[in-house]
Amino acid sequence: MDARLARLREEVFRRNPGESEFHQAVTEVFESLDPVVNKYPEYAEAGILSRMCEPERQIIFRVPWMDDQGQVHINRGFRVEFNSALGPYKGGLRFHPSVYLGTIKFLGFEQIFKNSLTGMPIGGAKGGSDFDPAGRSQNEVMRFCQSFMTELYRHIGEYTDVPAGDIGVGGREIGYLFGQYKRITNRYESGVLTGKGVSWGGSLVRPEATGYGAVIFTEQMLKTRGLSMDGQTVVVSGSGNVAINAIDKAQELGAKVVTASDSSGYVYDEAGIDVETLRQIKEVERGRISEYAVRRGSSVKFVPAGDGKVWDVDATVALPCATQNELNRDDAKHLINSGLVALAEGANMPCTADAIAAFQQAGVLFGPGKAANAGGVATSALEMQQNASRDAWSFEHTAERLHEIMTDIHDRCYETADEFGMPGNYVAGANIAGFVKVADAMMALGV
Ligand code: GLU
Repeated sequence: MDARLARLREEVFRRNPGESEFHQAVTEVFESLDPVVNKYPEYAEAGILSRMCEPERQIIFRVPWMDDQGQVHINRGFRVEFNSALGPYKGGLRFHPSVYLGTIKFLGFEQIFKNSLTGMPIGGAKGGSDFDPAGRSQNEVMRFCQSFMTELYRHIGEYTDVPAGDIGVGGREIGYLFGQYKRITNRYESGVLTGKGVSWGGSLVRPEATGYGAVIFTEQMLKTRGLSMDGQTVVVSGSGNVAINAIDKAQELGAKVVTASDSSGYVYDEAGIDVETLRQIKEVERGRISEYAVRRGSSVKFVPAGDGKVWDVDATVALPCATQNELNRDDAKHLINSGLVALAEGANMPCTADAIAAFQQAGVLFGPGKAANAGGVATSALEMQQNASRDAWSFEHTAERLHEIMTDIHDRCYETADEFGMPGNYVAGANIAGFVKVADAMMALGV
């Protein structure tokens, strides 16, 4: 890393102590930017990099709510509005007990570049809470969402900041959040949240978009080597919205997906994961992954967490779709030895820095999350477009737009990596292409 970038990075670390995931995300971007700051010194002169690392606004608030027994709980809510050079702040909300300011900052920082790569007019943000939805009743989740929005509503809006889902926030939570926003403001402002239900302003394909997009991106990477998804053996981690739809799309394209997981462990299904059974257990019943093994019988093995990870299974394609830093250097080594050809990050920052280095050294096609999982937020932008024009597009049209956007992101990353002398390096391509567009807009808008 160039000395000026290294100094800037130290400054970011100093100003944001203890936020290790944020440090990791900043490091990954800075490591790609050497050729850019050398070629265009005006960015550094205008302080673009330090400005980009400091969120435009950070909101932290109390979220009090009452459980079904009448006991009061207090959680912490966050919204980090990172960058609005390209459009209104845009990014999901994560409800998970591990959430703290550093989580939201790393996700918000990534979101700036991801959203830029989509080519859509959206800035970068992220929010969430340390609320744990696990084991909570429907009414408890509703009361929590209502309390969360009772504070958040004053900070968001169709032209200001447009939240959506992330881990722990799906269609049900978006419904409760939107209901409360509408109740407080007396405005049916569809474009204030995305990931809504189709009958109340949502977009078809939005639920499938992140998982589908990650597989489309993988297919495009494979194509550069004359390969395709057809016939690949795929390991997927996770069993939420991203994982399930990635499994579905991969199998539609002729691959066999043999794993899925949750925090309790993973299942290995040598016949290929049955998506309908998985959807029923995870989306309808909100059950555990071990139940999949019970229902599918002897072809399926359940491995409890602690006894192994999905990365122990041999595969030619890997799609980490669970959470940050779920795949380390040892996992990468096993996958490489088992013949891995391609990996696309369905989750945000699922691979550690040394795992990424190992994949790149071994010549594995590596699709970073800010490019590979951008289909979700891109389709959120399509939802905003439909809301702004009071329209509702067909599934086919929306899916076609998603396909175009993902292909375009792939090509831009590929070409940018080439242009800056790092052929095949999608990490560099994504970081540079994402950065330049935001940097140019920030330059144009002045200090
Ligand atoms: N949480 C998703 C992401 O990481 C989607 C955000 C959105 O749709 O605004 O990109």
